[in-house]
Amino acid sequence: MSEKAIGVAVLGLGNVGTEVVRIIEESAADLEARIGAPLELRGVGVRRVAKDRGVPVGMLTDDIEALVSRDDVDIVVELMGPVEPARKAIMAALEQGKSVVTANKALMAQSTGELAQAAEKARVDLYFEAAVAGAIPVIRPLTQSLAGDTVLRVAGIVNGTTNYILSAMNDTGASYEDALADASALGYAEADPTADVEGYDAAAKAAILASIAFHTRVTADDVYREGITKVSAADFESARALGCNIKLLAICERLTSGKGKQRVSARVYPALVPLDHPLASVNGAFNAVVVEAEAAGRLMFYGQGAGGAPTASAVMGDLVMAARNRVQGGRGPRESKYAKLPIASIGAIPTRYYVNMNVKDQPGVLSAVAAEFSRHEVSIAEVRQQGMTDNEGEPCGAQIVVVTHQATDAALSETVEALAELDVVQNINSVLRMEGATA
Ligand code: NAP
Repeated sequence: MSEKAIGVAVLGLGNVGTEVVRIIEESAADLEARIGAPLELRGVGVRRVAKDRGVPVGMLTDDIEALVSRDDVDIVVELMGPVEPARKAIMAALEQGKSVVTANKALMAQSTGELAQAAEKARVDLYFEAAVAGAIPVIRPLTQSLAGDTVLRVAGIVNGTTNYILSAMNDTGASYEDALADASALGYAEADPTADVEGYDAAAKAAILASIAFHTRVTADDVYREGITKVSAADFESARALGCNIKLLAICERLTSGKGKQRVSARVYPALVPLDHPLASVNGAFNAVVVEAEAAGRLMFYGQGAGGAPTASAVMGDLVMAARNRVQGGRGPRESKYAKLPIASIGAIPTRYYVNMNVKDQPGVLSAVAAEFSRHEVSIAEVRQQGMTDNEGEPCGAQIVVVTHQATDAALSETVEALAELDVVQNINSVLRMEGATA
């Protein structure tokens, strides 16, 4: 067994940092046996040192720069959150030859290139398993287990807050607003839920997954994004009638043209998912990621995508790996971006669609609607029509739900614009994509 201890600095003592520090202390003997050297906590970086934190005060510091620069710190575990000051602290650590473990998805989706280059130059590890889907191992399987395969698609539910809200809407018939209020009251949604409900958090994770799966640098800005704020109780009713659930999906796809030219698509949006698809039954705050690879076929990863202890499990996995590399020599896989595939625009992405609209109840309406789909070469798979009544029970038009075969986003957008102009169409209630269905 190696004599020299591995010194660790933990930056951040919040939900995740507290659990990481607890595990480092409570499992010291096991960790030492697994690593081949003791793991010693040198200090914990926080904003407010004075608070009673359950960690000896001498361990706490608000001088992140000094803590990172200590000679006896070999590995820096960044669990502070915002892009800054995390980026600056991680860059300083890497430039000084320290390995880094982080759970910071916003940072990794924005600055992977810069950080990976610094890690490469210093020949140290940069690990970030906890940045996507909390406890669920998905970065390491993609980076290592599937390193010899060709990944075709990664589709996942990677945001627990939105999955909790959508699950509640499906189970109880609640409106989006009521389900969000309930999620906030129970602590599943932040005071400002924008990053979750508008899809920014899922888009950051999609960028990280796409980069690794397709050996191409993809940033959050490359990801097409729609949130869940417009999904209605009526959409869930229609989805149920079509044998579907509605989920916020992060989808990363390798697209191959007829001439064999490859591109990458990374996108986040709420979509109808057939009930027999594995992602349709992932409920509450749980996350799941389905990977499709050429030789492996379909793989599914499921579990707790957030929370202090589950996220700390992923952080500790990375920490043990980085520490072992320090003891035994060698490094984990470096960033792989050799493929440099172009990013496909959303307009070129073929998907199936669900369009829900209110129309006048008069002869010829269905054929006028069908003609617009046909004129834009969007083929219809299914149409449902239902009469509507006003408050007095008098007939007042009809609701039409159209499900299409595969069409490009551009063709569908033009179709919807044209439908909105039709005299017989009173309102386009919603347009959602349908994923995971054949045809
Ligand atoms: P948190 O509870 O808000 O804790 C953040 C910690 O960082 C606090 O201890 C805070 O210090 C410290 N901190 C923030 N800004 C700082 C600064 N400028 N200087 C020094 N210390 C600073 O956050 P968390 O939920 O543990 O999340 C940490 C990271 O893990 C984030 O990147 C998050 O995205 C990621 N993550 C979290 C989860 C989860 O379920 N929570 C899941 C996956 C990934 P004070 O305590 O003094 O305020």
